[in-house]
Amino acid sequence: MLFQDTFKHKGMRKQLIAELRKDERITNESIFDAFYAVPRHFFLDVAFVEQAYSNKAFQIGAGQTISHPITVAFQTQLLEVKKGDKILEIGTGSGFQTSILCEMGAKVYSIERQKELYLNAKKIFDHFHYNPKVQYGDGYKGMPAYAPFDKIIVTCGAPEVPQALIDQLKVGGILVIPVGEGSEQTMKRLIKTSDGDLEVLEFGTFKFVPMLEKTAR
Ligand code: SAH
Repeated sequence: MLFQDTFKHKGMRKQLIAELRKDERITNESIFDAFYAVPRHFFLDVAFVEQAYSNKAFQIGAGQTISHPITVAFQTQLLEVKKGDKILEIGTGSGFQTSILCEMGAKVYSIERQKELYLNAKKIFDHFHYNPKVQYGDGYKGMPAYAPFDKIIVTCGAPEVPQALIDQLKVGGILVIPVGEGSEQTMKRLIKTSDGDLEVLEFGTFKFVPMLEKTAR
């Protein structure tokens, strides 16, 4: 990891943000501010630094990928993040999405099932002085000890919406989750309108790595 942020990197970030702005679905200004504040190249292998600001997904180890910037921006938009929100994230991965949420003033709880990625992300959070609660575990279970959450974001493709996550969402809370088996998923936003009632909206297809059960080594 290379924790060096130069004018060149900042310039590349501005270009990426200009590209994200072309997407009319992204209207929350604080998302662009967070994308400027969080150097995406810190989350990638040194070999990819030059390409860190293109709108691409990348390998981050353990066979996993950091999501496309537009996907991170879009999921964050759907989550309607407000300062002080208590947010659960499933799939810490590189820690980039986690950092965007921290930068926006959320209190973030994040679960990762790959130990290598969990340990690596923790190092990055220490560097930034972000203070998310990260756990090496199985996201299907959520984090019952810290529930309920205002928002929940799943950053891997789930075959179905895990009941534990619905249970751990506050009434009025938002759950953003790509759902589907196979290589493509439908982005869904669920709002818990009351205990037992969900309002569900769909937002097109995306490609995520699969949400797998139990922890890996
Ligand atoms: N938010 C990440 C996206 C990483 S890809 C980022 O910004 O980089 C999705 C991650 O979900 C992978 O790291 C994968 O290991 C993890 N994952 C898959 N199934 C999981 C589960 N059941 N619990 C926790 N993490 C899971």
